[in-house]
This record gives sequence, C-alpha cells and structure tokens, in this order.
Amino acid sequence: MTRVSTLQLNTSVKYLKGVGPKRAEALARLGLRTVGDLLYHAPHRYLDATTVTPLGRAHVGAEVTCVGRVVTTGVLPTRRGLRVFRAVLRDDSGPLECAWPGQPFLERQIKKGQLLLVTGPVRYYHGRQLVPREFVILADEGEAAPERGLVLPVYPATEGLTHRQIRGLVQQHLDTLLALVTDPHPAALRAAVGIPELKTALAAVHRPRDVVEAEGGRRRLAFDELFDQQLVQARARALAKRARAGITFTLKKELTTRLKEHLPFELTADQRRAIREIADDMTAPLRMHRLLMGDVGTGKTVVALFAMLLAVENGYQGAIMAPTELLAEQHLATLTRLLEPLGLRPPPELLIGRLTAAEKAAARERIAAGTASLVVGTHALIQESVRFHRLGLAVIDEQHRFGVEQRAALVEKGDAPDVLLLTATPIPRSLALTLYGDLDVTELRNRPPGRGTVKTALRTEAARPKIYEFIRAECAAGRQAYVIYPVIDESERADLKAATVMAGRLAKVFPELTVGLVHGRQKPEERDQTMRAFRDNAVHVLVATSVIEVGIDVANATVMLIEHAERFGLAQLHQLRGRVGRGAAASHCILLSDVPEAAPRLQAFTETTDGFKIAELDLKERGMGELAGARQSGGVLLRYANFATDLPLLEAARRAAGEIIARDPALVERQHAAYRERIVQRYERGFELFRVG
Ligand code: ADP
Ligand code: MG
Repeated sequence: MTRVSTLQLNTSVKYLKGVGPKRAEALARLGLRTVGDLLYHAPHRYLDATTVTPLGRAHVGAEVTCVGRVVTTGVLPTRRGLRVFRAVLRDDSGPLECAWPGQPFLERQIKKGQLLLVTGPVRYYHGRQLVPREFVILADEGEAAPERGLVLPVYPATEGLTHRQIRGLVQQHLDTLLALVTDPHPAALRAAVGIPELKTALAAVHRPRDVVEAEGGRRRLAFDELFDQQLVQARARALAKRARAGITFTLKKELTTRLKEHLPFELTADQRRAIREIADDMTAPLRMHRLLMGDVGTGKTVVALFAMLLAVENGYQGAIMAPTELLAEQHLATLTRLLEPLGLRPPPELLIGRLTAAEKAAARERIAAGTASLVVGTHALIQESVRFHRLGLAVIDEQHRFGVEQRAALVEKGDAPDVLLLTATPIPRSLALTLYGDLDVTELRNRPPGRGTVKTALRTEAARPKIYEFIRAECAAGRQAYVIYPVIDESERADLKAATVMAGRLAKVFPELTVGLVHGRQKPEERDQTMRAFRDNAVHVLVATSVIEVGIDVANATVMLIEHAERFGLAQLHQLRGRVGRGAAASHCILLSDVPEAAPRLQAFTETTDGFKIAELDLKERGMGELAGARQSGGVLLRYANFATDLPLLEAARRAAGEIIARDPALVERQHAAYRERIVQRYERGFELFRVG
C-alpha cells in the first residue's frame, strides 16, 4: 500500500511505504529514484529452488539446494588461519552443517531461527558439510516460509540495502505499480515478435512461477530496451544523413571500367554488390560513411581500389591508410599489380615511416601538388606535415586498429571526403549497426574461388612428432609454416610454452630450415625485417605470438600450428587461420591443445570457416566485455538485453523501429506518443532528437 493515492511511475520512491530517507538514499545509489525505476529494477539472477533436497538426503559429492531453519551458528578458525562461518540447518529429515570459509562476517547476517535456502556442493569434512555458493534468507525467526514459488529473484543490492530488502519492497508494491503500467506496443507487434504484454512481463520478472516464465518476461523488457535504442538510432541516422553534404561524384566509367575490364580474375558476387553500394553512396550528394566487413581473403582491397579510382576519375585523390608498414607495402603491391594494365601514371604513392627524410619530403610534395592521385600509407599519412591537394576518398584498413582521432585525422585531410572503413573482424550485422550508429554496412561473405582449402584439425600433445614431420615435409616441398604461441617468454606463464623458448627448440628440431621469431616486444623494424624475410621465403618456419594476427599475406605458407589453442578466443583463432590458404595449395591449421574442457569449443571451430558464424560464437563466449561501450550503447545502460544472446531480438527491434521512423520520423502520431515519451525520459539526446517535427 502506498501513502499517496495519485501514485505515478515517476513518483519518487520515498513516497512508498517502507522507504524512509535512508532507504531512499540507498535506492538512489542503485539508480532507483522513482517507483518506475523500482518496477524496472532487473533481478540479475534467479535462485531456482523448485527442486529442494531434504537436508537428510544431501549426499556427499552432490550439488543440492536445501531449505532449513538455522539451529546454531559460529565462527571457527581453521589451521591455515582461515576463519569459517558455520551454521547448522534443520528440516524434518534432520540436520546439515553449512560452512562458509573465509566469510566470518556472515555472523552478522545469518541468525538462529531464520529460514535459510542454500545451494552448493556437499563435501566430507568431519561429516557431511554443504559449502553454499548462494544463500537466501527466506524468513526470520518466527516468520512462516513464503507461500509463493521458490524461484527467487535476486536483485543488485547496495550497502545498507540487501537484495532481500529490495525483494521485499518490490513484492510489497508490485501489484500497485503494475496497475500504473500501460503497454505502448500494439498487440500485432507483440504477436509478430513473440513477446508477452508488458504487465505480464513485469510480473513474470519479479514473481515468476518458474525460470522459463522469468525468461519470457526478461525477453519482453529486453526487446523494449533494444527497440527504444533502435528508434533513437534510426532517427539519429536520418538526421545525420540530412546534415552530411559531401562530394557528388560522377560514375565516369573511365578508370573504374578499365579496372573491371583488366582484372586478372572475376569479381565475386559480393564484391560486385559492394562496389555497387559504394558507387551509389559516392554518386549521391551525401557523404559516404560505409563499413566494409569481410573475412581475410574475401578481397576487400580491390573493392577499395575501385572506390579510389572513382574518386580519381573525378579529379580527386584517394588514400588508404593501414595499421602497419608491411600492410601498407602489401597494399601498394596489390594496387600496383592491378593497375599495371591500366597504365595509370604516376603509380600509387607510398608514405611510411621507413622512407628516408628526402623520400618522405618528395612524397609529401607530390601529395600536396596532387600529382599523386592514389596514396597508400600508415600513420605517416596523418602527420601534420602531410597536406592533400584534393582528397575525395579516405579508406581506412583494419579500422579498429586506429583510434577515433586517428581516423578523423585522415578524414580531415580533405574537405568532407567520403569515408570507407575496412575490417577483417566481422561481427554480426545487427550488432555492427548498433555499435557503429550511423555507419552503413556492407558484408563480403563469399570468398573468391580457386583458393586452396584450409583443413583444420584438433590434436593433442601425443601428435607432436607427427606434426613436426608434417611441417618438415611441407617445407621440404618449398612451403612455409607458422607456429603460434600464447606468450612471449616463460616469465609470463611458466606452465605455457613460450615463443622465444620454442623458437630455439624448433631451430634444433629443424636444423635444415631457417626459423624466425616475431613478437610484440620486438622493435617494429626488427619485426618487419623478419616478416619480410618470411615473405621472401628466406625464413621457413615463423614462430610468433598473435602479433601476426593482422595482415600479412604470404601465399606460400600452408601450415598454421597453434599451440595452447585453448588460450585463444575463437575470433582470434579464425584470424590466425586466415594467414594460410591464401595461395592455391591446400593448407592446414592445426590446433594443439591438451585441455579437455576446451575440446568442444575448439572442435566446433574446426568445423566451420564462416567468419560471421565464428563471430557469433565468439561473442557468446566472451560476452560483450571486449566490445567496449556496447552495453552503454546509445548512452543508456541495457539492463535486460544481452547483445550476445539477444541478436534475433535486436534484429526484430531494428526492423520494427526502422519501419516506424520511416513512417513517422519524429514520432508525432498519437499511437507513437508513448514511445516518444519513454525515449525523451530515458535518453539524454531523446528530447533534442525528437524535438523537430
Ligand atoms: P582481404 O579482404 O583479406 O584484404 P585482399 O583484398 O588482400 O583480401 O585479397 C586477397 C587476395 O585475393 C589478393 O591477392 C587479391 O588480388 C585476390 N582477389 C581479390 N578478389 C579476387 C577474386 N574475385 N578472385 C580471385 N582473387 C581475388
Ligand atoms: Mg586486407
């Protein structure tokens, strides 16, 4: 019951019965200021005690959930100085001791007479002993057990406010608060997405009969979060486009057509589609801002070259920036080779740190004068001394390897040039669209034909001699091999094989071959030198850490051996595997791992070569941890949605939001008023975005 009759969702929590100034303060620390905040406060997990084991039947070795009254408590020191909190529970079947090593402070929380739910393993320690991973105080002394379900929401808590108190507060007011809720979605949308009504969902989240029901409720609330976010993004994208005047190129069909006519290969269907999308962008008055995502070897460079030539045939310059000198050199080689039959003069300009001061000065001069129409380089391109005559297109390869400012610095070398970003680290499209806000995205999924296949195998230590023999045979046939280790030297992890140590050992194993070593602690010049030697087949076996992940294209390398494969993420393994299979010969990727727990995921990896699929697996594995800002995406914390597992929901939200914004861009129609209101409340930019009519 509440003190005020005119309760609304934006009423302060302090008007709720059971919330004094102290509690209101504690709730505010959790970001809960209004009663609506409390209603939407998401349990971060559930304790599923629908199957409770009687204390007397909790056997040693089993994982159990039990409920019992606390009969005694105490703190005991152990021999190793660890203080252990102990409580004996009792139910009709008998007593059971619970022990919390290292948590003597629980003495202040767990009291005699309380009804306790505990879950954890039972071990043998002077008798049966349960070591709870979780516990919940269900009732205090003298209180009866709660009537309703034993699926208990556990809420994020804070100092001075336990999750049990929060649960009590939510349960006490839930019905009153639910009465204030109206669902902004029409039934048709709910049916199309397969989500319950809002009230049902909120009730399910806070008071589920079982975990399935709770998950159904969570999905609905997750959808709403993603939907709001997608509305904001669709609107932001539309507004940004309006404000983004750029160069309107004309498809003159000169250089671009000649490139197509003289290519030594057929473009793949994806490459053709990518070129079409880019040409459409570039010939439109808006600035292109497009991300080209494609696995290694899908042929992004030629697509980028096409875009650069489109700029050049319009009298502009095109530049491509790569994260390493080696990659820049590789691009230069590819461009030069592809442009050869066109007789384009002068040839592409290279600007990298390794050039002499005089060479650099000359290059800068040609770039400033505009005689260099195609420019390839590294960070050297964004130095202050570099000026472009008329930059029309900025291409950034491996865009994630550059900081935001670095990317901007290249773009600012021109006057509103079009921008094409390349990445060989594909992520699911919907996620890319969410993370990269106003970027358009093109995918290259299929690979050019005629490539050798890459066979992937998972092996254990027992196979080492055979693997060495295989490498020896491949190298004897003129091929090359990579051998990858997770650490540089043994000081990092004594239990892992390290690159520096193994390079020495492999040199002894293969006395007839030259073994090279590259790792992240070497000077870039030293690393580049070894890489070049490998490129020129002067080094046969290249021992490396994951520094070689990005970039180098040595068609002659056919073996990729990855030791301690379990130490690498799936996306990383995929990048490493992409280093082989670049030529026509059959290639092999061998994962060496002796960790049985890792076998299933590594096995799954051996069975697919689809980078997008691996990206999804990887995302599920890692969660969103490494994709910085993702959870905060759009400036709002996602409480219910999880990018890793809710991709289909994200797609649905994106579709629905896109349709609505297309029809009613500023959400002025009456049936959209609730959407608009919610966004303006929750998003800092909401008001500004939807202010205009
Ligand atoms: P990535 O997408 O990894 O950057 P690249 O652009 O470096 O791939 O292309 C890898 C190699 O494949 C290059 O040697 C390139 O010339 C070649 N290539 C690109 N497109 C095709 C195609 N359609 N058919 C055959 N070979 C191609
Ligand atoms: Mg590339």
